[in-house]
Amino acid sequence: MVNWGSGANNPKFKRRRERLVETLADKGIEDPRVLEAFSIVPRHIFVDTALQDRAYKDTALPIGKEQTISQPFTVASQTELLEVKPGEKVLEIGTGSGYQASILCELGAEVYTVERHKKLYEKARSTLKELGYSVRAKLGDGTLGWSAYAPYDAIVVTAGAPVVPDDLVEQLAINGRLVVPVGDEKRQEMIRIIKIRKDEYEEEHYSDFKFVPLIGKKGWQK
Ligand code: SAM
Repeated sequence: MVNWGSGANNPKFKRRRERLVETLADKGIEDPRVLEAFSIVPRHIFVDTALQDRAYKDTALPIGKEQTISQPFTVASQTELLEVKPGEKVLEIGTGSGYQASILCELGAEVYTVERHKKLYEKARSTLKELGYSVRAKLGDGTLGWSAYAPYDAIVVTAGAPVVPDDLVEQLAINGRLVVPVGDEKRQEMIRIIKIRKDEYEEEHYSDFKFVPLIGKKGWQK
């Protein structure tokens, strides 16, 4: 699916991607489709040239505007919890670099993504286009979701929320999964909410992570 122009296909980075996938598997990522997506998406294209040598370390990296491209293990953990099947409609809150959106594309999802920073939104759109990923992107407050295209089979929030944003729960389809880190500024617990049937939900709690804050009407205030 990926368009392998513009340095994306550098063999040096391909070998590093393979090692990153081994690291993710060692750390407990089991879903072979998720691991396969990580072996394909060229993470080095989503960061500044000066940071490309660090792109396949399992660490978060700066992308400007005091934001980060999340640590690959974090992206993989959230993606695994989403249990995306090909053709499903997935909403991401916090486009950032566009990397997570590309992973979702590689899983065959129809991807929608919202970012609040104009610069990041524009940069991510151009990176995704350059790589040939077809993603519907919006500039705005993702704590309100994206009601125009709801309901979604899966929603992932890639910034730390103070509480589960209720608009996102409302925009889930039946059997839909919402994966959202919730906590204070220091640590957030990963929560998965599954909409079992109309007005009936299951809530599961996973490990702690550290995210940049989700800022918006139903998130942290600026
Ligand atoms: N998913 C991104 C990636 O793959 O590069 C990384 C996301 S970064 C950890 C979190 C992003 O959430 C930041 O780009 C930040 O600007 C964005 N964000 C924070 N609050 C938001 C909101 N209310 N709506 C949309 N985006 C938001």
